Amino acid sequence: LISALKTSSAPDSSDWRSKRPINSSRNSAMIKEQREHLPIYQLKNDLLGAISQHRVLIVIGETGSGKTTQITQYLVEKGYTQKGKIGCTQPRRMAAMSVAKRVAEEYGCKLGTQVGYSIRFEDCTSPETIIKYMTDGTLLREALVDRNLSAYSVIMLDEAHERNINTDVLFGILKSTLERRKDLRLIVTSATLEAEKFSAYFNDCPIFTIAGRNFPVEIYYTQEPEHDYLEASLDTVMQIHLTEPPGDVLLFLTGQEEIDTACQILHERMSQLGNSAPPLIILPVYSAQPTEIQGRIFEPAPEGSRKCVIATNIAEASLTIDGIYYVVDPGFAKIKAFNPKLGMDTLIVSPISQSSAKQRAGRAGRTGPGKCFRLYTESAFKNEMLPSTVPEIQRTNLAMTVLTLKAMGINDLFHFDFMDPPPVQTLVSAMETLYALGALDDEGLLTRLGRRMAEFPLEPQPAKMLLTAVDLGCADEVITIVAMLSVPNVFYRPRDKQAIADQKRAKFHQPEGDHLTLLTVYESWKSHKFSNPWCFENFIQARAMKRAQDIRNQLLGIMERYNLPVQSAKSDYSKVRKAIASGFFSHAARKDPKEGYRTLIDNHQIYIHPSSSLFNRAPEWVVYHELVLTTKEYMREVCSIDPKWLADVAPHFFKKVDPSALTSRKREEKIDPLFNRYEEKNAWRLTRRKG
Ligand code: ADP
Ligand code: MG
Repeated sequence: LISALKTSSAPDSSDWRSKRPINSSRNSAMIKEQREHLPIYQLKNDLLGAISQHRVLIVIGETGSGKTTQITQYLVEKGYTQKGKIGCTQPRRMAAMSVAKRVAEEYGCKLGTQVGYSIRFEDCTSPETIIKYMTDGTLLREALVDRNLSAYSVIMLDEAHERNINTDVLFGILKSTLERRKDLRLIVTSATLEAEKFSAYFNDCPIFTIAGRNFPVEIYYTQEPEHDYLEASLDTVMQIHLTEPPGDVLLFLTGQEEIDTACQILHERMSQLGNSAPPLIILPVYSAQPTEIQGRIFEPAPEGSRKCVIATNIAEASLTIDGIYYVVDPGFAKIKAFNPKLGMDTLIVSPISQSSAKQRAGRAGRTGPGKCFRLYTESAFKNEMLPSTVPEIQRTNLAMTVLTLKAMGINDLFHFDFMDPPPVQTLVSAMETLYALGALDDEGLLTRLGRRMAEFPLEPQPAKMLLTAVDLGCADEVITIVAMLSVPNVFYRPRDKQAIADQKRAKFHQPEGDHLTLLTVYESWKSHKFSNPWCFENFIQARAMKRAQDIRNQLLGIMERYNLPVQSAKSDYSKVRKAIASGFFSHAARKDPKEGYRTLIDNHQIYIHPSSSLFNRAPEWVVYHELVLTTKEYMREVCSIDPKWLADVAPHFFKKVDPSALTSRKREEKIDPLFNRYEEKNAWRLTRRKG
């Protein structure tokens, strides 16, 4: 192993802060100085030497040492871009954008020229781009088109320790690409110590270590478990603000809603204190957030005030915010987990792992000695938390991944070289889903429809819905619906104006359900010339609408590329609903005479969300887009359907198949349970088939 030199002693904090760029005239000199100050700078030649000697290199180093922003630029200086681009993947969209912006600034070019980024539905690159930041999902999609990734000379899989599903798949893809392309180089970076495992996977490649500059962080635990971690976090933030010496605070919460609530409560508490406390600048950070706000989190707090950043997991390693002295860690994160019973992923708030907790605490020791307040007991940390987070590939739905791999011609997924293979049952379940959607045939091979579905940067269900819409002649409407479903909530519902917001929303409600309500919102916005004031008046999030419009245009582009006709249903909405059912038939539910609904898959009890346009109508048969678990399991985005459609749109799913007709290949792939699953349990399905 290559081990690196220790870097020089740490700078003092005021010195570090004053070096942030303030205006553009002195920017470039300051940026140069800042770059030369990073731990990685002193190791530049060693690192480039290691890269030239080894085609695969693992690089580990503390967050903030300069891996993401510097390595790509060093590679350009060294001439690696003569034969191809430098591609650098990020597990998160927001990180890809924010880092590209920063690097463009350092490089001295306009974002989207030499330095650019590409994320789903948004490509900010041009033919001159030589440093390209992207999500791992984007690179995976590029591999679908060109398995050799011949546009790149070096690929950096950044933040690989996050073990995103797409990063894990890329590991396998790149490992075989490296065998074919002897001129390709791969750098895998990681903030934690999964490095040995990564190295072993890539045939014992060397590990390059960048020693960070880290100050000690004192850890505090609670004596008793906290019942309400949000309340406890806010109390802790206020206590830090009122009693601790200067230094910014970073609080980790689980998601947008929680963060917005926390910000609001903190604002209220601060205004109650009036002038008796120094100003607290409260900054939310989550991925679905306007870029202006994102920019502000990097600005130092004015003299005499304190910054409090309230962030999701994104601030654990993807974003480096200087000046943090205090970390408040309630010990939770929202993670995606596959619910085999529902056959879908749900986001659940779960305890973090020990390695996450350590990573979070480390954020407090970047600028000086810091403190980390863990809102859980020491015993919970030691005995209840897992040592490291379970890789996403082992806990989420694999339908989209399997579809992508199959479309790359990788058929034998049971023998694919995964670093940590997913559970066989999850693979089987993904194949069942794809089979039911018509994307795989009886042999488990990709169908024409499946190939088409893989062309879209969408989950298989919405992709199927869109392609059925093409056949039914209602793609125009369904593209809008898919786009609207791809953005976070478009309805704005501030805490103090809920009643009026709900009234405004009700005006858009459609009797057929929420998908058509979303369509109506989009159409009304369009008829008001995509106006912002119209959004404001109607409690609609203009930004989400704008994004839906972008996504819509992207999808239109793909439709055009493949010559798929985009026709309008001309208000024959049953076509649209049938298209929805063709993708989401597995989310069908029937009204329970007693209360709520029952899923057709397993008779599970669920309810229509109170915000749904069908909440009071409660039709007999529905399909839903997703489930959210709050006090009950709620269906969000619900559409009424005619049950007759189900057998039409999903003949594999709602029909009995003779298991003796199985091919040997299928038996080998162990996907026969599919054929037995729907046999006798629910007689109506069989009647449907006969009728
Ligand atoms: P690593 O990848 O090793 O965690 P980065 O390359 O992301 O480190 O960051 C190095 C430094 O660049 C950070 O410490 C921070 O000072 C600066 N930096 C990164 N992103 C931004 C940004 N968007 N705005 C201002 N400074 C940034
Ligand atoms: Mg980084």
